[in-house]
Amino acid sequence: MPSRRSLAAYLFAGLALATLPAAAFAQENAQGTKLPVVASFSVLADFVKQVGGERVSVTSLVGPNGDAHVYSPTPADAKAIAAAKLVFINGLHLEGWLPRLIKSSGTKAPLVTATKGIKPIEAAEEGHEARGSGKGGHDHGHDDPHAWQSIANARVYVANIRDALGAADPAGKASYDANATAYLARLDVVEGEVKAAVARIPADRRRAITTHDAFGYFIKAYGIAFIAPQGVSTESEASAKDVASIIRQVKAQKVPAVFLENISNPRLIEQIARESGAKIGGTLYSDALSDASGPAGTYIDMMKHNISEIEKALAAGPA
Ligand code: ZN
Repeated sequence: MPSRRSLAAYLFAGLALATLPAAAFAQENAQGTKLPVVASFSVLADFVKQVGGERVSVTSLVGPNGDAHVYSPTPADAKAIAAAKLVFINGLHLEGWLPRLIKSSGTKAPLVTATKGIKPIEAAEEGHEARGSGKGGHDHGHDDPHAWQSIANARVYVANIRDALGAADPAGKASYDANATAYLARLDVVEGEVKAAVARIPADRRRAITTHDAFGYFIKAYGIAFIAPQGVSTESEASAKDVASIIRQVKAQKVPAVFLENISNPRLIEQIARESGAKIGGTLYSDALSDASGPAGTYIDMMKHNISEIEKALAAGPA
């Protein structure tokens, strides 16, 4: 006849059995099953990796050096979204190709807009004469999607990602909180480096040209004036008139350097350099990271690489 004690043990075992699915999931997770999530492009995917750490497996739809404005999704992308527990997007109209993909994937995963809480700058507000003169007149009322180019905004991305991961995977919340805190401290350091580098560039040389208007937030945060023949999206091409106007501006304002972009065809910038006499200052990573072996495999490396190229090209006066 079973004693009270063994009966209690038996009941306890029954209780444990009843909660097995949750326990099994926790155990599975401890054995290395990671939370599958999707991010729309490489910069955002890096933020998610930094906060998610070992607990999260991140798929980036648009890969290294890819253009997130114009992208043709693949069947593999739909599959990744269907399997994901969370889908992270930039928002601010960066990913015009995404809603249809989300719909066709059939996913029920929450969509997390990483720029939530960021005050967008309007594309037209920057207002140089070349901007927005592409297809269909001007760009009034369009939000500039490139919010990640300011490190203050990167902090908002990180906080949104931390909160979304903690809600989707409560067992990992402490880990996400700790990762985010450590990463935010690293961002503070990089922000200090960027500001110090800008301060070393003479004020009258803080001007440069890029292919498309990806640096509106950078301009506002750090005070380097970038002018671009192409608007805030790469969807519309720069017109001959825009390019001619930029060349005039480079000559008149003695803009020291023009920069290539990793996501854009170099031809336009090479033409502007040739016809204006400005030097090519190197390649900036605007809308995508490099691959892991390149100079901008993470967001932090991207910001460090960009400011280093900018300082090299702009700091030195004419010989
Ligand atoms: Zn862009």
